[in-house]
Amino acid sequence: MTGHYVPDNLPAHLQHYIGGSFVDSVGGETFEVLDPVTNRPYATAASGQQADVDAAVAAAREAFAHGPWPRMKPRERAAVLYAIADAVVAQEDRLAEMETFDTGLPITQARGQARRAAENFRFFADLIVAQHDTALKVPGSQLNYVNRKPIGVAGLITPWNTPFMLESWKLAPSLASGCTVVLKPAEFTPLSASLWARIFEDAGLPEGVFNLVNGLGESAGDALVKHPDVPLISFTGESTTGQTIFRNCAAGLKGMSMELGGKSPAIVFADADFDAAIDSTLFGVFSLNGERCTAGSRILVQRDIYDRFCEAYAERAKRIVVGDPHDPQTQVGALVHPEHYDKVMSYVELGKTEGRLLAGGGRPDHLPAGQENGSYVAPTVFADVAPDARIFQEEIFGPVVAITPFDTDEEALALANNTKYGLAAYVWTNDLKRAHTFAQSVEAGMVWLNSHNVRDLRTPFGGVKASGLGHEGGYRSIDFYTDQQAVHITLGEVHTPKFGA
Ligand code: NAD
Repeated sequence: MTGHYVPDNLPAHLQHYIGGSFVDSVGGETFEVLDPVTNRPYATAASGQQADVDAAVAAAREAFAHGPWPRMKPRERAAVLYAIADAVVAQEDRLAEMETFDTGLPITQARGQARRAAENFRFFADLIVAQHDTALKVPGSQLNYVNRKPIGVAGLITPWNTPFMLESWKLAPSLASGCTVVLKPAEFTPLSASLWARIFEDAGLPEGVFNLVNGLGESAGDALVKHPDVPLISFTGESTTGQTIFRNCAAGLKGMSMELGGKSPAIVFADADFDAAIDSTLFGVFSLNGERCTAGSRILVQRDIYDRFCEAYAERAKRIVVGDPHDPQTQVGALVHPEHYDKVMSYVELGKTEGRLLAGGGRPDHLPAGQENGSYVAPTVFADVAPDARIFQEEIFGPVVAITPFDTDEEALALANNTKYGLAAYVWTNDLKRAHTFAQSVEAGMVWLNSHNVRDLRTPFGGVKASGLGHEGGYRSIDFYTDQQAVHITLGEVHTPKFGA
């Protein structure tokens, strides 16, 4: 497939969505949105400022204070969420095309992400219906129960990698809980948020429940975080941005959930299933263009199999199909934006001084016609990377991997824990005891043993150290978006100590 594919009905201008209407910024500000395979602008987007955030929060506040959504029975809210999930499934092809166009992600992987977004809505709809809190009765005297209440206007701030799915990961539980929301999507990829607005409208979500403000982090994002009528912020993005948001939330004593960056280790022991480890560690780094928070971008390999592993890994990396994201054969597409491309390329150059280049190392040799300016990077493999190297320590967030040898279990653990991050870890071994022992000691919020990234939605999701604060997933997400007020009533006679009697 060659040429430049443009989906039908691609909007040329993206607006905010406030109180049930698409609107521009009060002051008319806009920014350009780029197509990652040409790096040319394909649309403008309204650029939210304080006044736009104020309007969106006011609409969400009004819908929370007086609208039906927080007052609906869980089953009634769930019915709307099921309709949303059905709409996503029905429009899967179009949504995936749009996501691929906006992000440069391979189309087959974007389809998988759209399916996951539908699952998120179905899952949290099921959960809110099943949710119950146990009432405690003290025999003969007192009843204690939990009055679970949506917290209010939730501020949702999302990154540009897999935006449609990641937005659903926050939208589904916040809406299921009865909150009203203001979403601030990433400025590189604003398209999916407008698609959500249309889907919600069609599914019958009441006006003002979902609001969207496009714009930059330092203006729209900052105004949302600091808004006094927004009591909680759910943020996914870089750890340094998380630090700024943390400080700003502290000033308002707001609730916060932070899903941040990663530099996750994949540890391959000599006794592992070699072929499965190769397959999974390749997929773990190079799927989603390497723009994956849980990417296993540091591979630690036991010395007995190190040379064989490096050779096999590099051979396979060279055969990964890089190209037009809309081509179903493509395995790695274009990076999201030239700014991000420059960052990844600077790490590729740095890697040549910090490791032994085994594959890639620059732009791919062949690019689709008409896409020569696209943000393409060949899958890049560095071996013999020292633990203090920057490409071992810092999140690159692209198709670049560092491989390092180890001898003993203790050394593997020390290497695995030797970064500021702690999002995920992958362990490849057929020794059951070693696998579980490793999981106990590795500093990671999520551990996959002989497995990669498959995850039941009931389990916790989140990182430790610089990778995050708080866990989402299952009831943890519902807990985050709800207050659990304790109510106590004395049923029998009241025996209050008689002060001053
Ligand atoms: P980013 O931190 O640059 O931006 C994320 C969002 O925050 C964007 O919407 C941005 O506009 C906004 N923002 C920026 N500055 C802000 C401020 N001062 N106040 C309020 N909002 C602000 O991150 P990114 O480059 O879009 O995304 C990539 C990062 O996200 C990587 O580090 C990746 O690991 C991380 N990520 C983590 C997870 C996870 O679950 N742990 C999932 C996906 C991505």
